Amino acid sequence: MTRIQLQDLRKEFDDVTAVDGIDLTIEDGEFLVIVGPSGCGKSTTLRLLAGLEHATDGRIRMNDRDVTGIEPKNRNIAMVFQNYALYPHMTGRRNISFGMKSAGEFTDREIEKRVDQASETLDIADLLDRKPQAMSGGERQRVALGRAIVRDPDAFLMDEPLSNLDAKLRIQMRAELTKLHSELGTTTVYVTHDQTEAMTLGERVVVMEDGRIMQVDTPQVLYDFPEHRFVAEFIGDPAMNMIDVSLETGSAVHDAFRLPLPTGGAYSEEWTEANRAAVLGIRPEDLYLAKERPNLGQTTFTATVDVTEPLGDSLLLHCSVGESKFKMEAEPRATIEPADEIEVMYDPARLHLFDPETG
Ligand code: ADP
Repeated sequence: MTRIQLQDLRKEFDDVTAVDGIDLTIEDGEFLVIVGPSGCGKSTTLRLLAGLEHATDGRIRMNDRDVTGIEPKNRNIAMVFQNYALYPHMTGRRNISFGMKSAGEFTDREIEKRVDQASETLDIADLLDRKPQAMSGGERQRVALGRAIVRDPDAFLMDEPLSNLDAKLRIQMRAELTKLHSELGTTTVYVTHDQTEAMTLGERVVVMEDGRIMQVDTPQVLYDFPEHRFVAEFIGDPAMNMIDVSLETGSAVHDAFRLPLPTGGAYSEEWTEANRAAVLGIRPEDLYLAKERPNLGQTTFTATVDVTEPLGDSLLLHCSVGESKFKMEAEPRATIEPADEIEVMYDPARLHLFDPETG
């Protein structure tokens, strides 16, 4: 049972504010992912949790025990790093058991039993007698996971553990981590810059920018209801299209179109009333070619195709409407050429609106 609370947590390095007053509760047994661009404060947040950095201000509680000033070794937390951090001269078995041995709290028999259990869970029996240099990246990361789970910690902290692996292995390891989490149920905080990894692994995802939390929610809610332009553009690939418009009595007006805004879209109601500048956000997959979906019966506007890119399962269209650019996808074998005029259909309920000043 481990619930972790961060209260107004702050970390400054000289003149850099790496973590700028974070409030967050990680529930017992939760798999929480922290995602954001490089330098936004993800690793520092994790290192504060581990006790590897001292907070400038704020508190960290684990199950209501204040651990803010407690040494890493007294927090009963296991870290998994990007570079595996294995001892090169030790076999897999010794790497896994080393922490338990040096703690001096376990008999040799207990240690052996736990290593065998971890090895079974991770299917790494054949790695126990090998040294890291004789293992692939994926195998080293499995041994590093073994070392983490063998201690039966209160929480796992993982800092980009898959980023040194090739794309195919990353996808496989992602699935293995999800399976491991469902078996062990240990509270896990996982840091990544990769939004796909965040969306696939996280039960909840924290999006950070400049040391602050922009939004915390389930992957689907983040995707469907981003509260900030930053979140909308960071989550999703290809990124959400952003088009500058002005709002006039229930419509988004652009030099090349006027789109009626229904009430109950993916934005707050106040937007439909105001006369103001706005940024209209719409995901590429929420746009359709009218001729491909004639029965959808939704509102259309006219655009010009600039470039086409075959993606195999679809044809990515880079388009212009007036001065604005956007992307959408067509059927993979659609006969569409650059300079073609297209009728674009969209679902008004899937439009997003952002403030041009504050995002
Ligand atoms: P992320 O993990 O999101 O890439 P970090 O937490 O590593 O970001 O860094 C956040 C900010 O804090 C960055 O501007 C980084 O340069 C700075 N920073 C991190 N660690 C240190 C340090 N030990 N000394 C000085 N600045 C640091």
